Amino acid sequence: MTRNEAEHKEETAVTRLAGVRRKIAAAAGEAGRDPSSVTLIAVSKTFDAQAILPVLDAGQRVFGENRVQEAQGKWPDLKTRFPDVELHLIGPLQTNKVKDALALFDVMHTLDREKLARVLVNERDKGASLPRLFVQVNTGEEDQKAGLRPAEVDDFIASCRGEWQLEIDGLMCIPPVEEEPALHFALLEKIARRNGLAKLSMGMSGDYETAIACGATHVRVGSAIFGSRDRL
Ligand SMILES: *Cc1c(COP(=O)(O)O)cnc(C)c1O
Repeated sequence: MTRNEAEHKEETAVTRLAGVRRKIAAAAGEAGRDPSSVTLIAVSKTFDAQAILPVLDAGQRVFGENRVQEAQGKWPDLKTRFPDVELHLIGPLQTNKVKDALALFDVMHTLDREKLARVLVNERDKGASLPRLFVQVNTGEEDQKAGLRPAEVDDFIASCRGEWQLEIDGLMCIPPVEEEPALHFALLEKIARRNGLAKLSMGMSGDYETAIACGATHVRVGSAIFGSRDRL
């Protein structure tokens, strides 16, 4: 990449970030909500530190990554330079990566099974402090997707609060690509409400305004800020 191209790219990510922020504010206003009730998570997966730095310089502090190993490659350095960064894990977590994840992430959106809950409890009991937790719900009941089925969520939350003493902040979902996202957002909101959970992580580049209309408190926006990626 030439210097000129780099500068052009820099401007693009920052310009896009401003545009996304404006749209978030407008969507919140339209829904009669305070824009500050919506946290923008800038999803920087597949992008390197060079691409992330301008977005940090523009004041964005909340970022999302979906792979522990990839995040380990870029965020320790960036966190040293920007200590107030808040890092969110938005991808599935294998139990053998839990320790690494705890060292790096402030919030985890993908608590999706008992085994993972038990490993977190075990680490906490050994003295680790846990990230804030969202339970992932597979609202479309897709076989290839992570997350609890809607019918399993109430019991799982009860076990978190009872047996495991795990505090849960909210719920997260990724709607099926072919379906109307608002239906899935509404389902997630309903499950959260009946469980007394205040936070909803839902909405990506294509549907974050819809998600805000449905009550999202955390939107996870990648390509609308950083540009298109080769992989999901
Ligand atoms: C990649 C990813 C996003 C962001 O996707 P975009 O369409 O690029 O905004 C959001 N949530 C999760 C779980 C992701 O893996």
